[in-house]
Amino acid sequence: MATSNFIDTATISVRAGKGGDGVVTFHREKFVAAGGPDGGDGGRGGDIIFVADDNLSTLMDFRYKRKYAAQDGENGRAKRQTGADGDDLVIRVPRGTVLKEADSGLVMADLSGSEPVTVAKGGRGGWGNSHFATPTRQIPKFAKPGLPGEEFQLKMELKVIADVGLIGFPNVGKSTLISMISAAKPKIANYHFTTLTPVLGVVRVGPEQSFVCADIPGLIEGAAEGVGLGHAFLRHVERCRLLLHVVDVSGCEGRDPKQDFEQINHELVGFSAELAQRPQIVLGNKCDIATEEQIADFKAYVEEKGYTFMPISAATRQGIDNLPAIVYARLKELPPVKVYEAEYKRPDKSAEGQRPFTVTRLGEHDFDVDAPWLERILAGTNVEDYESLQYFQTQLGDSGILDELVAQGVEEEDTIHIGEYEFDYLY
Ligand code: GDP
Ligand code: MG
Repeated sequence: MATSNFIDTATISVRAGKGGDGVVTFHREKFVAAGGPDGGDGGRGGDIIFVADDNLSTLMDFRYKRKYAAQDGENGRAKRQTGADGDDLVIRVPRGTVLKEADSGLVMADLSGSEPVTVAKGGRGGWGNSHFATPTRQIPKFAKPGLPGEEFQLKMELKVIADVGLIGFPNVGKSTLISMISAAKPKIANYHFTTLTPVLGVVRVGPEQSFVCADIPGLIEGAAEGVGLGHAFLRHVERCRLLLHVVDVSGCEGRDPKQDFEQINHELVGFSAELAQRPQIVLGNKCDIATEEQIADFKAYVEEKGYTFMPISAATRQGIDNLPAIVYARLKELPPVKVYEAEYKRPDKSAEGQRPFTVTRLGEHDFDVDAPWLERILAGTNVEDYESLQYFQTQLGDSGILDELVAQGVEEEDTIHIGEYEFDYLY
């Protein structure tokens, strides 16, 4: 059995669709000498959307396919026809997957609910040349290109959502236990690293009462230092509210129960101080093959440290029947399962470009654009020369000025004042 294919993290890149370009076209009709600009706008690029899917339990697939892109928007067409929007791309992940921006490690989304989450937005479509013209010659030869879609490197981490997590060395009986108290059917075997994906079981306590228990794959020594499979395991228990620490009191594999108990707790501290503080119930398993002295000795040891101790035998069901009710009662005192808040803030686009501007409405059909840097560009622009104007036009679009005008409700043929220049806004 392979031991290295435990998959619970993956890094992928996602790219939302680019907006389609606006186009430069002119209205053409027989016997009409010079038609007006009629280039249509580009369509919006598709978004990247994540959805939690309960039929998935690992991030395995993302190891093989790592690039995800939503569809680009279509370019605009003549006669003011807008291009089609690009299709969104929906990516399904196991419930509980946490998405982080790879560089910063900041949380972008926690897929523990049922709501789809838009992680990368498609770019807006560009404007066709029908939008903007000078009053002298209203034949703009320029159009605004579509904006690129958002692009991220994402680190995905699966942190299962369960109230209770089973922890303990391999072969202490965790899988046997969960199969006894829930309908979950994990692989049970007398060899190490049998559990490659977390197994979730719903434990019924009464007609209306239940909790979710996770069988977390066995920890190995040095796990917290990233040796072997440890971090992958511990990430899964990170949001459990209560840990059931299973220890083989019989020491049937030649292990010392006290040492095992300390070792696992040491790994927890190494991984996260918060996790080490999580309440634990210590389950002394394999009591059917342990001596009375072994059980009493271990019980005294953990109770001395302030833990609740329960002697059980997952194999013979000893001490198992009232375990769910005890766990349930304990859970009622504990805070709910942790949901990770989004920490990642999208960069503020207007601050980014260092091209500050203020758009002020002067009257019903008059707007002033105050942007000294733009006036400097205009001063060097021959407004009769389209190549030259094109550069100016690009600046208007890229800096966000056109967007702001639209946001403030600019209408067809409104006058735009930029310094000593005046333009008509045409749609
Ligand atoms: P895990 O690695 O912690 O999930 O351990 P498993 O549940 O796979 O159990 C490992 C081995 O211990 C299996 O052969 C089980 O049958 C055995 N086992 C589990 N619980 C008990 C128990 O209470 N008593 C005895 N004698 N054997 C047990
Ligand atoms: Mg197991």
